[in-house]
Amino acid sequence: MPNLVEQANALQGKLVEWRRHLHQNPEVSMELPETAAFVKERLEEMGYEPAYVAGTGVVALAGRKKPGKCFLLRADMDALPILEDTDLEYKSVNGRMHACGHDFHTTMLLGAAKLLKEHEDEIEGTVKLMFQPAEETLKGAKAMIDAGILENPRVDAAMMIHVGAGIPNLSTGLIIVPDSGTCTAASDWFEIHINGKGGHGAMPEMTVDPLNVAAHTHIALQEINSREISAADSAVVTVGMMSGGTTSNVIPDTAVLNGTIRTFDEKVRQFVLKRVVEISEGTAKAFRAETKADIIIGCPSAICDQKASDDVRNSLREVFGPAVPDPAMLGMMKMNGSEDFSFVTQLVPSVFVMVSAGSVEEGYQYPMHHPKATFNETALSRGAAVYAVAALGWLSKNK
Ligand SMILES: [Zn+2]
Ligand SMILES: [Zn+2]
Repeated sequence: MPNLVEQANALQGKLVEWRRHLHQNPEVSMELPETAAFVKERLEEMGYEPAYVAGTGVVALAGRKKPGKCFLLRADMDALPILEDTDLEYKSVNGRMHACGHDFHTTMLLGAAKLLKEHEDEIEGTVKLMFQPAEETLKGAKAMIDAGILENPRVDAAMMIHVGAGIPNLSTGLIIVPDSGTCTAASDWFEIHINGKGGHGAMPEMTVDPLNVAAHTHIALQEINSREISAADSAVVTVGMMSGGTTSNVIPDTAVLNGTIRTFDEKVRQFVLKRVVEISEGTAKAFRAETKADIIIGCPSAICDQKASDDVRNSLREVFGPAVPDPAMLGMMKMNGSEDFSFVTQLVPSVFVMVSAGSVEEGYQYPMHHPKATFNETALSRGAAVYAVAALGWLSKNK
């Protein structure tokens, strides 16, 4: 498959053009009408018959000329509601930003679509291309699964790419395929509404101070990690927002805490979700207030399949050699971020691939999700080739 890499490199100019268009016009959550239409048009130009799935998701099929299994390649297409603060000539024009590199993923999968069309006679089965909305809000993958993306034809294995930028020592073009097991965190949210009884700041005895309850609740939630979770397990309980009150001498009626929970093990996850509610309600009761703690379920951990990951890593090594290092050496086995591709990993053997798009040493010092984050575009053709090589390789190894 070496000529695939040359063909991908020849596409680089086109990929940069597509990526810059997407970067300049980001859309968020499930509302990606322009992005989805752009993807669909590019696929039609290549000779595909793409269809919308779950609103602004797009699916297309390659291959089906030789018998074989079905391998799914997934790219997410959504951006973040943050104001871009880079000096790029193609910076976002609409107040939203592709700060997580999903414009890269979309472009890479379009590039792979082009490569796979050129090699369609060699595909031993089917490659299903999945362009999904709403990864950042953890809704898109589930919506596409509910709409049948894993059926007709039934998907036998799946793979996603996420770029990595702003990470030390991870130079552009490195390809990391984590080993089997949990590779991203489960992500859930909580909203704690504390109802006290407001009044004059000079007479706290006449009130039930919800800010006092909020402070105690914040501290009490830290005990989950320090006193109730084994050292062998891990969890994060972060309160990212505390709000209540309007001025210095008034005790308000209410206060609100908003936070996020990250876990890697389903049992730990269920335990933490339960304890956040119990501790919030118990703390409020201790101080004569009332609390309603709402848990908002996000997504589970992504589980990488051992055999599928080994197959894909081996196929990539055959083509990219030393650019595919041992994941353990890089400490990239588990990532604290979450990924709604996890809903796919629960249903079919799945592979997670990271392609580096600019290290700190190369001048990409801002982490992803930062308004100044930038990405190295030379990773575009690399990513397109990685998608295509992985799909052709897995199908040929699993006839
Ligand atoms: Zn993100
Ligand atoms: Zn992302």
